[in-house]
Amino acid sequence: MKIVEVDELIIGAGLAGLTFGNTSISDDYSVAIAEMHFKAGGYATNFRRIKNTVAFDCSQHKITGLGENGNLRNALQRAGLWDKLQFRYFDELTTVCIKGQKIDLPADSAGIKATLLRYFPSQKEGIEKLFEDIQTHGYQNYMFARMLLGEYEINRYLLTDGRKLSNITTREYFNRLFNDPIIIEVMSSIAIYLGAVAHEANAFYFLHYLYAAFETKAGYVEGTSQVLADTLANAFKERGGQIFYRNPILSIDVKGDRIMAVNAQKCTFLTHKIVATCSPHILMKMLPQDCIPDSFQESLDNLKIGWGHISVYLILDQAPELLGLDKSEYLLVNHLGDNLNEKQLNDDTRYQQFTLSVTNYHLLDAQSGFAVQLTILDHKGQWFDLDKDAYLIEKKRIENLLIERALNTFPDMEGHIVFKETSTPRTNFRYTNSPEGSAFGYKVLPRENTRFLYNPPIQGLKFVGGWSTGPGYETSMCLGFTHAMLEKRKRVEELVV
Ligand SMILES: Cc1cc2nc3c(=O)[nH]c(=O)nc-3n(C[C@H](O)[C@H](O)[C@H](O)COP(=O)(O)OP(=O)(O)OC[C@H]3O[C@@H](n4cnc5c(N)ncnc54)[C@H](O)[C@@H]3O)c2cc1C
Repeated sequence: MKIVEVDELIIGAGLAGLTFGNTSISDDYSVAIAEMHFKAGGYATNFRRIKNTVAFDCSQHKITGLGENGNLRNALQRAGLWDKLQFRYFDELTTVCIKGQKIDLPADSAGIKATLLRYFPSQKEGIEKLFEDIQTHGYQNYMFARMLLGEYEINRYLLTDGRKLSNITTREYFNRLFNDPIIIEVMSSIAIYLGAVAHEANAFYFLHYLYAAFETKAGYVEGTSQVLADTLANAFKERGGQIFYRNPILSIDVKGDRIMAVNAQKCTFLTHKIVATCSPHILMKMLPQDCIPDSFQESLDNLKIGWGHISVYLILDQAPELLGLDKSEYLLVNHLGDNLNEKQLNDDTRYQQFTLSVTNYHLLDAQSGFAVQLTILDHKGQWFDLDKDAYLIEKKRIENLLIERALNTFPDMEGHIVFKETSTPRTNFRYTNSPEGSAFGYKVLPRENTRFLYNPPIQGLKFVGGWSTGPGYETSMCLGFTHAMLEKRKRVEELVV
């Protein structure tokens, strides 16, 4: 077996691993990445169909934090990556379709507030309070990464109220602010960007995303998300980093509580340091079981695995703009809401009542072809138990159901779909190894605490990325940068001592 000696090994060439690698590597510090897939990106990958003429994104790459005040812009600039990327911006954040109305939410905070006030004048007091909370609690939570770097001082005055908000769900929070069920559903639908539903995600966490989306400028990388991943991968290699594709990590050798070697499918890495961007649940299975304290495993087992998703990829015979999709993205929201009971969560009700996003990829990037993507959250549900034939039949059934739902809002698309393909949580699992096909890490529920993940039981092991710090392009890249910076500082301090 080939031996590779390296100062630090990153598991996973997703956005977190690539940003960490680019920041951590230096002439006297070697870093390698082992990736199980054959290309870089993790969820930020694409695939092509119809003789390479149409490109589909696996995730959707609406990227926050790109404005002057954005943490992502700050991180990419400091990591020397910003100038390598081109972003595209749109006038709208999204268009929410509910009860026959299409509510265009513009891309800026003042515009969103004005729109909400125009549609829901009776909810003025709640809207004012929401925007005040976004500016205070949302901002404070958003600045967490900068606080770790010592660049933001916590406002202690806000902390007590912030804690209270983290003890309630987003839906409970909206119920306190509003008495019009439609504005509650409009605002709740935004949870899909966090891979969450409003009756689960804690309100403090949700407010940080509203700050990011409303205040820090959201955009799309030019080309699909694969361009972003490939750019970061190329920069890493130019800095001397090595990426080992098709090379899943299988097990880790530990002596005492120190990492000695990491065994991958094609080689053994000799290293004392691992940055794991895969699921901590999976990582724990790679370790000798006697070195995991029961208390750590128990805390891990108490976390709830987050939502997966279904995406239906469509190719039309003409530009989607000509068939009624003249905006970049729509959220189709059922006015009955998505707060479902156990039975509804497990039958087809979830496909009717969960928010369905419809993205016009042709408008995002004409090179993508006449591509439209439908995405809805889903859980492992029926997907993992079916045999191959039954799985394919079920996949077709749900695909048709979701297309029918999209056609209700965009009837002109009828008869113009020339290609369709669908991914499920089972597909996620196959390509990313994520437990239950989750696409968004662990659920950030009220009173949930994932901070223990910052102190794994093994010396030299670090968790970074969507699983430990919350999902999203900005979060994964920012915290990849932040944790690499903190480590670098520690290395310098150790040298001085
Ligand atoms: C449908 C969808 C839409 C989304 N839309 C948006 C959006 O619009 N905006 C946004 O900000 N975020 C969005 N997201 C979320 C975002 O894509 C992710 O949070 C982010 O890409 C996660 O990056 P990561 O590097 O932390 O993890 P991942 O991308 O999961 O990377 C982890 C990597 O580890 C690898 N790996 C796992 N196990 C092993 C092993 N044993 N050995 C080697 N490698 C291994 C995996 O193959 C993977 O490449 C979306 C996600 C989905 C699924």
